[in-house]
Amino acid sequence: MHDERVRRTVAGTNLGNNRDSTRQHNLSTVLGLVHSMAGVSRAQLTRATGLNRSTIGALVGELVHLGLVVESDLDQAQQHGRPSIMIEPSPGALALSVNPDIDVVSVALVALGGHIVNPVRFHTVRAPSVAEVVNIVKAIYTGMRTSLPARHRIMGVGLAIPGLVDPVDGTVIEAPHLGWRDQRLAALLSEALKLPVTAANDAVAGARAQATFGAGRDVRDLVYLYGGASGIGGGVISGGRLIRGATGFAGQLGHTHVRSGGTACTCGSYGCLEAEVTREELIAAVGLPAGERENLEEAVLEKLQDESASQELRDIIDRQVALLAIGLKSVVNLLNPSLIVLGGFLRILVRAAPDALGEALRTPGTRGPRESVAIELAPLGEDSILVGAAELAFEPLIRDPAGFLRPQDDDADARVPSA
Ligand SMILES: [Zn+2]
Repeated sequence: MHDERVRRTVAGTNLGNNRDSTRQHNLSTVLGLVHSMAGVSRAQLTRATGLNRSTIGALVGELVHLGLVVESDLDQAQQHGRPSIMIEPSPGALALSVNPDIDVVSVALVALGGHIVNPVRFHTVRAPSVAEVVNIVKAIYTGMRTSLPARHRIMGVGLAIPGLVDPVDGTVIEAPHLGWRDQRLAALLSEALKLPVTAANDAVAGARAQATFGAGRDVRDLVYLYGGASGIGGGVISGGRLIRGATGFAGQLGHTHVRSGGTACTCGSYGCLEAEVTREELIAAVGLPAGERENLEEAVLEKLQDESASQELRDIIDRQVALLAIGLKSVVNLLNPSLIVLGGFLRILVRAAPDALGEALRTPGTRGPRESVAIELAPLGEDSILVGAAELAFEPLIRDPAGFLRPQDDDADARVPSA
């Protein structure tokens, strides 16, 4: 089954050397495996961690007691040997994901294991202000809480921002398409919802989702590029780790230079990838009304079926693919990923011209990093941003499950699920 993946997750981890830190480390490892695999058998946990059956039993028991995992039916898929109990993430262990953009505020509850429970997309007629986002999220969250299972706990809020985010305090340094600068959205949201809030760039969140659950789950060197209403963002996983850079802003791949004397970009430069390859141009080419932009991918592919009506659209796609290829060549030469995952509207370019990007990337005679890189579409579609935002909120929980939950044990309002 997933044993190779399980082994790789554990490989290189260092079992702690005093009793408390060993226990914390082992709890974290087991919860991390159950989370990223969205369910794993006791036998797999034993094999993956090298811990004996009784230790695994005790660790799982503690996670059950904490309300973070549930033990369920026997692993039916296991054909050989003794059947093993499956350990699955508790459906009541939740994070709230928030992703504001220029024409929609997306909010969802995401369960441990990366499962989106009830996404809400709140459309706005113009880019929302920070105060409006707080009000919208608070109203949606209040509505959601009435339909939650009796035993649940919201671990925190993950905020995915189409812009630069201060990695220390979550301040939005700049989100040019939203018109935001130095905005304390994370702090305001935390105050309004009475929950801890962690913020990051949207594409960085998406990269985390891809690395944990998506196309990149068995890949240690991955570049994720996300194209949204607010431009193109990137996240880079290298050697299994998210690259952050000196001040936390690494991966601004949307500002890779792709055309000399090109279009002015919000960053003050000219000819950046996100200024040249835009969702707006595709929307205009298919004439999609404001309320139907979620259907852009299907609208583009449908219009391309019509040979006579599609030449202008085909030219736009050819041009965008060629410019995206220029950007990706730089990225691949610089980072040598084994996989590039394209999400958001960038999926359209691959689906509309299935071989063009790969061919442009691998010009004849190509050797080195560009020879072997694979390109995949984000299988989670637009959801990877929300799943990745939840990862931000789950991170401190998974790092120290018992420690994270301990301070709030007395809080009668935050009901902890139990088996
Ligand atoms: Zn730029």
